[in-house]
Amino acid sequence: NANGITIHGVLERNARKYPDKEAFISATNRLTYAKMNETCNRIARYLQDRGLRKGDRVAVMSRNNEHFFYAYFSLIKLGAIPMSINIRLTSNELEVILRNSNAAGIFYEKELLQTVQSLTQSFPLQHTFCIQDTAQEAESYSEDNLNLPIDSREVCEILFTSGTTGVPKGVLFNHERILSIAYGISIEFQLTRNDRMLTIMPLSHSAPLNTFFISGLYCGCTHVLSDFTPQAFLEWIHKEKVTFVFAAPVAYLMAAKDPRLQQYDLSSIRVFAYGGGPLALVSYERVREAFQNDNFFQVYGLTEAGPNGSLLRPEEHLTKAGSIGKNTAVNMEFRVVRADGSETAPGEFGEIILSGDSLMLAYDNNPQATTETIRDGWVYTGDIAYRDEDGYVYIVDRKKDVIISGGVNIYPREIEEVLAKHPAVLESCVIGVPHEEWGETVKAVVVPKAEVTEEELREFVAGHLADYKCPRLYSFVQELPRNASGKILKQQVKKM
Ligand code: ATP
Repeated sequence: NANGITIHGVLERNARKYPDKEAFISATNRLTYAKMNETCNRIARYLQDRGLRKGDRVAVMSRNNEHFFYAYFSLIKLGAIPMSINIRLTSNELEVILRNSNAAGIFYEKELLQTVQSLTQSFPLQHTFCIQDTAQEAESYSEDNLNLPIDSREVCEILFTSGTTGVPKGVLFNHERILSIAYGISIEFQLTRNDRMLTIMPLSHSAPLNTFFISGLYCGCTHVLSDFTPQAFLEWIHKEKVTFVFAAPVAYLMAAKDPRLQQYDLSSIRVFAYGGGPLALVSYERVREAFQNDNFFQVYGLTEAGPNGSLLRPEEHLTKAGSIGKNTAVNMEFRVVRADGSETAPGEFGEIILSGDSLMLAYDNNPQATTETIRDGWVYTGDIAYRDEDGYVYIVDRKKDVIISGGVNIYPREIEEVLAKHPAVLESCVIGVPHEEWGETVKAVVVPKAEVTEEELREFVAGHLADYKCPRLYSFVQELPRNASGKILKQQVKKM
């Protein structure tokens, strides 16, 4: 393409360069780059015949398998805009997102028919396509590339933020911005076409899709596609000799305590990448020991800036585990700043701001939020952090989660990390609850893994933290609500 390489341009190039390479492996299929490209060309022509046009926004709902990519690539080839949607959303939640984003249609995997049916009863869409049926019906169409004039600077994808702090926000990207993530990641991780990458976190999130899958595509890797269960995680690595995997911290913790762990050979792994949330030092050590592997890389970032904002490399874990790294990620830059934009001193809390080649273009339909978030080319992340004397940055918490009690800032993450050290605590979520006198007071919602009393926890926490930070209230639950990428939904915990 004269106007810069596009995402489908990369697929088409791979199909020419490595036509017979096994490139997409799932539980139901094994496809070469050539086969994937041909199938998507056929589907794109079929969609064109049904009236789908450049710029149309189409929700894609599929589990992690080849169907997702049939939809994704065929839409992109047409210049239509895929909006990858979390398949666990209810039809009501889906309706809000699709309404806000002016969706022209939905492309769904057959297994999700029920959700789509109840959605379209209250929210009729112009185009509703089942991916499997479409692939079949498109078989008579030409397999040749479409070669439509598509500029790498045109909007090509909408992703939604996790909604950890509120309603998910639509984020706009073009080919150029997404591929710039691939340039950075492939350099940082030394990806080659010999890598076998497992994509096991939901493709509705920016890290699995934009950061890792697209980087693997760019380098011509073989992709193994699966939904997450601890067993699937272990089994795919073992069976397909996976060399590279990205997963949320909670996914690693679950796999590490799977009773079948010892049956699997994980020695093919070159990179265990994790991110999207913190992995406390104690948890990191637990996982490293269970996997008997030191090749852990942490990535930090956010949908709005590409999740390639910073990296903590394996050797850095020895002395700096718990940090998100220092300012060394290729093609990205970050700072920790005060409210007036000036640089914080070591040890001082400030907000992380990020800049680089992969920032979002804008929030969808929300110019005010865009202006608040991107200022002078920097994304204001809302993450509070400090740097140590060596320049390593530690996230303290998210601005929106800070508890203000009696006028003092309390950072829940610090308390959660203390609770994680208690042998009877599996995990916890610390929140602020309204208090007449102090504005808010601290409450810990704890998932125990052994019998423990509130008194014991109070005593333990008091041994580690200043009195004003110690939770005044405790409650015990079986599990905490999480979103598809494994993040604890604090807003829901507050409502519990
Ligand atoms: P919403 O904006 O809708 O509340 P969200 O911010 O959770 O959702 P994402 O873009 O998926 O949506 O998540 C980005 C956030 O995740 C970061 O701002 C940061 O708070 C957290 N995060 C990402 N990576 C890490 C990491 N390695 N360590 C700690 N926190 C991380």
